[in-house]
Amino acid sequence: MVSSGTILNGMGVGLSAVTAEVFRVKPAMPLPEAAKHSGDTATETQRLKSAITAVAEQMNLLAESAGETSAEIFEALNMLLEDEDLFDTAVIQIEDGWEAGTSFIRAVEEFAELLSGDAAFEERLADIRDLAKRVAANIAGISLGLDLPTSGKFVIVGEDFSPADTAQFTEAVVGVVTIQGGPTSHTAIICRSKSIPAVVSCSKAADLVDGMTVLVDPVGDRVVVEGKESDITKPLTFIAKSHDPLIPVRANIGSLEDAIAASASAAEGVGLFRTELLYLSATTQPSKEAQAKGYEEILRAAPAGPIVVRTIDAGSDKPVPFLNMGHEENPALGVRGYRLIENHRDFIIDQLESLETAREASGREVWVMAPMIATATEALEFAALARAAGQFKVGIMVETPSIVYEIPSLEGKLDFISVGTNDLSQYLFAADRMNPALGAMLNPWQPGLIRALKQISEASSAAGIYSGVCGESASDPAFAVLLAGMGFDSVSSSRSQVGAVREALSAVTLEQAKEVLAAALSGNSAEEAKTNAIGVLSGISEN
Ligand code: PEP
Ligand code: MG
Repeated sequence: MVSSGTILNGMGVGLSAVTAEVFRVKPAMPLPEAAKHSGDTATETQRLKSAITAVAEQMNLLAESAGETSAEIFEALNMLLEDEDLFDTAVIQIEDGWEAGTSFIRAVEEFAELLSGDAAFEERLADIRDLAKRVAANIAGISLGLDLPTSGKFVIVGEDFSPADTAQFTEAVVGVVTIQGGPTSHTAIICRSKSIPAVVSCSKAADLVDGMTVLVDPVGDRVVVEGKESDITKPLTFIAKSHDPLIPVRANIGSLEDAIAASASAAEGVGLFRTELLYLSATTQPSKEAQAKGYEEILRAAPAGPIVVRTIDAGSDKPVPFLNMGHEENPALGVRGYRLIENHRDFIIDQLESLETAREASGREVWVMAPMIATATEALEFAALARAAGQFKVGIMVETPSIVYEIPSLEGKLDFISVGTNDLSQYLFAADRMNPALGAMLNPWQPGLIRALKQISEASSAAGIYSGVCGESASDPAFAVLLAGMGFDSVSSSRSQVGAVREALSAVTLEQAKEVLAAALSGNSAEEAKTNAIGVLSGISEN
């Protein structure tokens, strides 16, 4: 039992705190077993009709929130859902005595058998089965969603939230606490970008129940039960010494909404556009035309400056249904990111060509990069594909330890690199970024990561390659100062952090940033590195 004033430690996300009532997210209920109805065929047929209409409406809402890129996918799904032959087949099942939900599932399976061998239908099968599940859930009164409140103010508490879950966050979600998940988890990334205060990896949050009031205090890395204003930990404040930050601060985006919000910030362009976020709910591959249209809207809306677009980074923590990636024992070490080139070469080329269409139409400066590059061969192959597809600056993400050692061999071949510290930490420390027990190893202040970053920055500048950092570490204002002190050319932060990172980088000179770096390097642990760096920074910010 948690009493008033209890402190639950975790890892904070964001700089502002919030107090609100707890809403525990319940795990989804399983669908009921196949069952017979009690005899009224007409009522059962009516129930099926209403459920189909309700699911079609849900699909329309999802289409609206997913943006135009996915709209045509949802339209295609609705055509399947409302197919008359399918409905008639389900009615025959109802007449045979099966209840409405079971009948629809049986009808879909009958279609699957009849049309097996028809390539076009088979491609759609997973979608139709998903729709049948939604219809059956609607009939059984089971919610497949999170059932979040839509009004009031709540801190939602759950194990961890998948991309499909975070897409359902409503206006009423003002704070988030996860029992699992680490500082680089999808939940952390989304909360930072939406400015929702969060504490992740908070194992004791399992004791929180509906109706309690909690203070989410991210700067203090804690949740305080019935916490008060005076419990809030204040972030470091900086006094700007110059108008421009030491190095440009770009924004990370994943949607049109992000692009619009980022252009209201002081971001100088976009340092990471996570394209896979557009497709997390797409069950069929978007056409080139739909992609080009979606990218063009985003390029036009993005803040002034270059826009660094990452080709699809599906797999592991970012499942993309239409790519049918299958099960892997160890997905973080599996076929993800650029490794999709083996089986989905066409999609990567489509992406690059659609981006070129969008670049030309929008007149924006576009840089493209590939995720999860592990060898110089992959880097060169991607550079050739990208240069053949359009007028881009071409680069790669540095997220694997192996590519760090290959930077010198990429001299003259790449225009830029961008360090993804989320994955780089995962692979440097052999610590799964989804495993809450290992959150401490994913702390960017780990001396091992700081030394690796210094080496990457030095190797890139020796090879004449522009270097930036776009992982979550670059959203921490103090850490961004450290990165500038190492010699990185730019940072890209979660859009809600752009202002704070710019402030920190406008309050220091290069010499001072180097002093902050030296102080961090003198620490023997993440805690010492951070304390030493903040000590020097507070001295600077007070003067
Ligand atoms: C990273 O790994 O640091 C990164 C920016 O990519 P993502 O978090 O999308 O894997
Ligand atoms: Mg990554």
